[in-house]
Amino acid sequence: MEGAVKTTCPYCGVGCGVIATVADNGAVSVRGDPDHPANYGRLCSKGSALAETLDLDGRLLHPEIGGQRASWDEALDLVAERFSRTIAEHGPDSVAFYVSGQLLTEDYYVANKLMKGFVGSANIDTNSRLCMSSSVAGHRRAFGSDTVPGCYEDLELADLVVLTGSNLAWCHPVLYQRLAAAKAKRPEMKVVVIDPRRTMTADIADLHLAIRPDADVALFVGLFAHLVSSNAIDQNYVAAHTAGFAEAFVAAGAVSFDEVLERTGLPAMQLREFFRLFAATEKVVTCYSQGVNQSSSGTDKVNAILNCHLATGRIGRPGMGPFSLTGQPNAMGGREVGGLANMLAAHMAIENADDRDRVQRFWRSPAIAEKPGLKAVDLFQAVAEGRVKALWIMATNPVVSMPDADAVEAAIRACPFVVVSDILKETDTARHAHVLLPSLGWGEKSGTVTNSERRISRQRPFLDAPGQARADWWQLAEVGRRLGFAEAFTYAAPAEIFSEHAALSAFENAGSRDFDIGAHARLIGQAYEALAPFQWPQPAGQARAESRFFADGGFYHADGKARFVAVRPVDADRTCADYPFTLNTGRIRDQWHTMTRTGKSARLSAHIAEPFAELHPRDAIELGVGNAGLVEIESPRGKAVVRALITERQARGSIFVPMHWTDQFAANARIDAVVPAITDRVSGQPASKNVAVAARRFKVAHYAFAVSHAKPTEADAAYWALAKADGGWRLELAFAGPVENWADWCRRVFSIPKTVEPLGYADAQTGDVRLAFFDGTRLLAAFFLACEPVAVARNWAIAQLGAEHTNMRKRFGLVAGRPGADKPDPGATICACFGVGVNQIVAAVRSGCHSVEAVGVALNAGTNCGSCRAEIRGIVDGCLATAAE
Ligand code: SF4
Repeated sequence: MEGAVKTTCPYCGVGCGVIATVADNGAVSVRGDPDHPANYGRLCSKGSALAETLDLDGRLLHPEIGGQRASWDEALDLVAERFSRTIAEHGPDSVAFYVSGQLLTEDYYVANKLMKGFVGSANIDTNSRLCMSSSVAGHRRAFGSDTVPGCYEDLELADLVVLTGSNLAWCHPVLYQRLAAAKAKRPEMKVVVIDPRRTMTADIADLHLAIRPDADVALFVGLFAHLVSSNAIDQNYVAAHTAGFAEAFVAAGAVSFDEVLERTGLPAMQLREFFRLFAATEKVVTCYSQGVNQSSSGTDKVNAILNCHLATGRIGRPGMGPFSLTGQPNAMGGREVGGLANMLAAHMAIENADDRDRVQRFWRSPAIAEKPGLKAVDLFQAVAEGRVKALWIMATNPVVSMPDADAVEAAIRACPFVVVSDILKETDTARHAHVLLPSLGWGEKSGTVTNSERRISRQRPFLDAPGQARADWWQLAEVGRRLGFAEAFTYAAPAEIFSEHAALSAFENAGSRDFDIGAHARLIGQAYEALAPFQWPQPAGQARAESRFFADGGFYHADGKARFVAVRPVDADRTCADYPFTLNTGRIRDQWHTMTRTGKSARLSAHIAEPFAELHPRDAIELGVGNAGLVEIESPRGKAVVRALITERQARGSIFVPMHWTDQFAANARIDAVVPAITDRVSGQPASKNVAVAARRFKVAHYAFAVSHAKPTEADAAYWALAKADGGWRLELAFAGPVENWADWCRRVFSIPKTVEPLGYADAQTGDVRLAFFDGTRLLAAFFLACEPVAVARNWAIAQLGAEHTNMRKRFGLVAGRPGADKPDPGATICACFGVGVNQIVAAVRSGCHSVEAVGVALNAGTNCGSCRAEIRGIVDGCLATAAE
């Protein structure tokens, strides 16, 4: 395929438009789509690096059965036969699908239709359960539907933007850039960030509330009481469009200001200022994400926020409203097709007999699931207990991302029949599959996704399918046919699925359901190919609808009114003498989920190349952990070992560890193995935050750093973390004791022929070992070992992989691990787009660049995707503060 293709970024819920261009030589380049209303041409660092993730290294290119190559017919026949036999012997609830917010809507639709309408079970859940199911539950309780009322523009139009449990700068970077640009234009706009940690997002905040973990309900209940006492309630809106205000008020009245102070841990002045700002500002948007959702009280948190917006009537009008920011590219599309175990297609309710009947008639299906299925945590528990005996996992990696991940791995390993559809051959989950099915990746597949503001966009293919990889919807439809439901799964192309999905949304829907895209019910062929991004609803035969909901009521409870939910704060502190720290997990700027794609990009790995634990300096001192030391995190469920990152941004007693690292990239850093499977009682969403843990220094005898052309294998070390680097790989290591022969160890791990002798030395006094292996003038691998964390300049060492080593002086310089004076160490990468390091930015500030913009002019840093601007601002401010002391 050739030419420029408009498609959509496959990472976060912002859903940016991307233009991908394939050159004559096959090289792919990407840029932001200037016409896409989500990003207007912007892309963040992850989106900008998409072209670097498209190689076929590690791709699963043909079906496998028991680790052996198989034909599609053999694999699909086996899947159908095993599912069919299991259902016949043990009933429909003995099988399950565990799918993903990475699926396209068309894939999701077919999976849901097959399981709920034809297998007759609702045992289909998704990793979106881990992401935003509390928002779904909160929306349904308040609105009677899972409706996101506002749109992105509201963040730019608001006079006050409250970001709670959202590190927008790293997790939804383009939306953050839109907000930062709006604030720069209107400095009077206020931003409040509510987060236990001072994240990069807080750098644009007028007020940062370093709240205690899981104290959000107390905060917003306190706010609700304040809105009442300061006469900020919109009495007309409450009377006309809501019910339950009195009960919510009574519940809020039971929580005194002092109790809010106590529970949140916030200074009274800050709390009063936040309440005052919210009460006094008409145009308020409250954005919330995983810090709200991933909690045992997530649904109550959502309703505490919705209560405040309903009470003030600030919903569905420009610049006003609650705003759930979805983590995944198509979590919203999954919600639309009913991809969660407790939902039915097209925003219909599985508990509602009329809805069930309607969907069954539309599908002409032999069955319809009559009760909610197993939510993710319960589903894997059922697998562990043998109640689910056949499991199909698509486009997700639960051995890494589920809480109690070791137990989930054991359950999958013990399951009698596991099918995994993925693009990669080796993932922590795929290694336990009986049948592996090769799926299409981004750039190859065709369909639609829905972003956080209800905007449906096309993902279009611009690459040919590699090997025998096929679309997920095709795999599902083929199994559906083999199960005896050929007539219901005749799809030849995704357009047919999308138009059926759109027709179902409009079926017997005279405005009684929010999700209606009936205007696209006959979308086929070229019309589907050309489909421009649009926001739902788009009912058939009507002009484009208002893009917001609920300004004039019109909620989806039977009486048309919204519900206040009387929520009460809960005791949130889970720490105890044995587990005195609070662990919060989350994302970092340049990696996505379990790194199956972003882990391929050296540029993205340059920002943060290792799993880490962010610790407060005083906690680090008490633990005896120095900067760049190693720290072991332990809960009753499991352990992880990661690098210490000591920073004042962290609150005392709290630890942040990213959720990305897998067994493919680190020795022992699957942090969800530490997280227990505690869930929200309403939504079933696991609490991936506020985990009581112990932390201690992880003692080792030697630390090491290595670069290598060949991918390191079998790095038998107490600690290792692997990352892609320009020209090869970088490897951080630590050893419990000495290795008999370091040169032999290197030869084995870095695939160096036995005949290659290293240049280097071993210093018996200091314990330092330095080894470099050359093939002619080319460096094969370099290894630096010391008794303390190795101080070698990483980016300089990586650059040596691509350098010509023509003379001995240069080679000895490499072994010494010191850049020459003419090659200063750029330091850790801050700007991934232009490869600008922290040392370069510090030097620029010292030479007179005293703003982010000035640094941009001098170094280009921060001038492309802008994802690093918050970090650059932090470095500039830090340098200026140090200079002023
Ligand atoms: S913000 Fe970044 S990751 Fe998210 S959709 Fe846009 S380009 Fe992709």
